[in-house]
Amino acid sequence: MNYEIVLATTNKHKLQEVRQILSPHKIVVYGLNDLGLKVEDVEENGKTYAENALIKAKAVQKVTSFPIIADDSGLEIIPLDNRPGMFSARYASEMGGHDKAIAKILEDLKDKDDRSAQFICDIVLLNVEDKPLIFEGIAKGAIATEKMGEGGFGYDPIFISDETKTCFGTMEQGQKNTVSHRAKALKKLLTYLKINGFIPL
Ligand code: IMP
Repeated sequence: MNYEIVLATTNKHKLQEVRQILSPHKIVVYGLNDLGLKVEDVEENGKTYAENALIKAKAVQKVTSFPIIADDSGLEIIPLDNRPGMFSARYASEMGGHDKAIAKILEDLKDKDDRSAQFICDIVLLNVEDKPLIFEGIAKGAIATEKMGEGGFGYDPIFISDETKTCFGTMEQGQKNTVSHRAKALKKLLTYLKINGFIPL
């Protein structure tokens, strides 16, 4: 039997990434729109990625009893004091979109030797145990000197993975899913679901 789970997102790219990783393990991932779930707008005012993921998951918990996963992620650029970090989505929308945010980041890094960066992803699992469970993934890398590729979303066109030495923006989805922060957090989630008998080993 399939294990059904709701992903607390309306972001199609995120849904696609998560599905590609979880569906080979007999997990059916529903987005909020797939189930017609109307979730109240919540302020992501947590102090950490995990707190924000929990805020999103709890809002969804009001409208479904399915297991829920919610993720919160961000791009931390070390020479910019880890900005935009937890504010990655807000930063892009305040700048007028990811293209403009990327242009500003490239400008800010123009004279910097250190371009190191990391994507962080915290995933909360709710409605499975009495308490929420948290899984974290980190992808280390560097900011490119120009935009690369058309793939992915968000800051993908400027993030070069330390593991592959290539840019998330030029990767096939399958490749991003072997090294991304989200994939690493989901791998930990899969291990938990397996060892606790929710999905086959
Ligand atoms: P959230 O987890 O949906 O709040 O995502 C925060 C923001 O971080 C997104 O809007 C993107 O700007 C950025 N981000 C998170 N994950 C990724 C990724 O895999 N690629 C590119 N940008 C990402």
